[in-house]
Amino acid sequence: MKHQPQQHRPRKRFGQNFLQDASVIDRITASVYPKPGEHLVEIGPGQGALTASLIDSGCTLDVVELDRDLIPGLLASFSLKPGFTLHSADALNFDFSSLISGTPAEPGVQGQQLRVVGNLPYNISTPLIFKLLDNSAIIQDMHFMLQLEVVERLAASPGSKNWGRLGIMAQYQCQVEHLFDVPPHAFNPQPKVQSAIVRLTPWTHSPWPNCSEPLLRKLVKAAFAHRRKTLRNNLKEIIDSTQLEALGVDPSARAETLELNQFIEITNAIHV
Ligand code: SAH
Repeated sequence: MKHQPQQHRPRKRFGQNFLQDASVIDRITASVYPKPGEHLVEIGPGQGALTASLIDSGCTLDVVELDRDLIPGLLASFSLKPGFTLHSADALNFDFSSLISGTPAEPGVQGQQLRVVGNLPYNISTPLIFKLLDNSAIIQDMHFMLQLEVVERLAASPGSKNWGRLGIMAQYQCQVEHLFDVPPHAFNPQPKVQSAIVRLTPWTHSPWPNCSEPLLRKLVKAAFAHRRKTLRNNLKEIIDSTQLEALGVDPSARAETLELNQFIEITNAIHV
């Protein structure tokens, strides 16, 4: 039976832009490609546009919705579907590890991981992504609809104007793929900005196991504090020009020209 959303007035404060374009919904589902036995989590199911196509794959699906007014409609549509569980909660405070059932995996043995999906409210997207990356051991991958500009920053390459703290810290923790763009008319109501789908896949083994993340974060924050200033200037409290040169980094360059690897090398050099 076709999924019939209930009447609901979209709420701005919950960032509600409901997907209404079946071809976009199909494309997202095809990118996620949920399989029977997998454990998916949808954040902000809304009126169930994505939920309906995800649950039909036979996966286990937990959904986390903040707007209480949407709960009865979601229950009416999906509560009888095997594997479906609704959580009336704020995804920013939600304990995702509580969804992993059974005995904890033995050290070194990977238990079942979560695949997270969501057409996210734009105001919570960055804090939510970093919350999930902090739990990356339990996350297999994440597919999110975000503001195009945020996806461009997440997936940015060194040397581009989009390369900065967000992309560096995300790419340090996961593989980032900008999958495709979604125009405003795919939603009701239409957002003012373009959107895009991004796939984030946490590294199973960090390419930089010895790097200190807090130190990297501090370095990157300082390096980009004034985008137009040189590294020598922005980093003078952290590392001096001679040390930068010894690492093969030009002190008169700007932060946006450095590759992730170079940020890691600098971090490792200042790590004491
Ligand atoms: N997935 C649906 C709805 C997207 S709109 C679709 O594609 O049509 C964003 C959804 O996230 C809304 O249902 C909104 O109520 C919900 N939401 C907003 N903030 C949230 C939060 N902090 N935690 C969980 N859900 C939230």
